Amino acid sequence: MARVYNFSAGPSMLPESVLVKAASEMLDYNGCGQSVMEMSHRSSEYQAIIDGAEALLREVMGIPDNYKVLFLQGGASTQFAMVPLNLMNGSGKADYVITGQWATKAYNEAARYGQAKAVASSKDKTFSYIPKLDPSTFTPDADYFHICMNNTIYGTVYHQLPDTGKVPLVADISSCVLSQPIDVSKFGLLYAGAQKNMAPAGLTVVIVREDLLGHARETTPTMLNYVTHSENGSMFNTPPTYAIYICKLVLEWLRDEIGGLQEMEKINQKKASLLYQFLDQSKLFHGTVVPEDRSLMNIPFVTGDENLDKEFVNAAKQAGFVNLKGHRSVGGMRASIYNAMPVEGVEKLVDFMSKFEAAH
Ligand SMILES: *Cc1c(COP(=O)(O)O)cnc(C)c1O
Repeated sequence: MARVYNFSAGPSMLPESVLVKAASEMLDYNGCGQSVMEMSHRSSEYQAIIDGAEALLREVMGIPDNYKVLFLQGGASTQFAMVPLNLMNGSGKADYVITGQWATKAYNEAARYGQAKAVASSKDKTFSYIPKLDPSTFTPDADYFHICMNNTIYGTVYHQLPDTGKVPLVADISSCVLSQPIDVSKFGLLYAGAQKNMAPAGLTVVIVREDLLGHARETTPTMLNYVTHSENGSMFNTPPTYAIYICKLVLEWLRDEIGGLQEMEKINQKKASLLYQFLDQSKLFHGTVVPEDRSLMNIPFVTGDENLDKEFVNAAKQAGFVNLKGHRSVGGMRASIYNAMPVEGVEKLVDFMSKFEAAH
């Protein structure tokens, strides 16, 4: 069986060695005669898996001790509500930067609970850049300041974090988590749906500074209160057991096979620059994002001709490069090249694009 190069924005590729390991343990995990899927989450075998996943995430990301790691469900989208429910309870204000669809959804949800302010937006140019921020427009007594760090649909990323002073910085890192080192201590809270770069769908990871816990509003549903999960080791109810197990395997791969986030970043830079360099010299294809805000993970590009875009996506699929169709709001193509995409996959894609260009 031939595996394809999958450029999906999410769920996306997992490292092949992780899939092989998971397959080898499918019927009998570690001699206990059952699959991880069948295991009680209250068993000692499973406790070791979730503890191992948390310890590895702390090690790989360098998470300081005064942060809690929570393994939740509901996707990044549930965090759009959990963040304001838990954090927007001092002044009842929060600042949001509108850099795309996910940032907009997060902002709209927060606006239901308090005074959410959009301090800047790049909507005027289809979110093809990260807006310059003017700290004098920030709300000095905001309960937090929210950014979407890597904009999956539009292919932009913050190369520099906003300086929010004492106001906790909250970031949606769904599509850039584990792609390069990140200084967790600069943030009050980080969250990520795992299906882009960590694990299969079903798991959401939250990393939150301890002093931000315990301020949820009275009416917060028990399941949406971070304290419920932090006080119960993410086992208040049944956690997404199998996704957490795969997350642990992905973290082992990152640490032991790749060599950690610094090495991962080098590989990701190599992949992205292969594609950007090709786009910058191509007479047929061009990138849609301003060079200074380009993402390492999601690279949208177009030919400028919708029919030709369609022809390219179909031809690429025939050749084993799948899910290259761009998001409907940008059109054209998008190559999502998360951690598990091998360098070879991008080299072969660039080769295929240059042959397509020559033929057109
Ligand atoms: C995919 C994505 C989401 C939505 O994630 P779900 O887990 O499907 O809710 C939110 N934010 C970003 C940046 C994403 O890439």
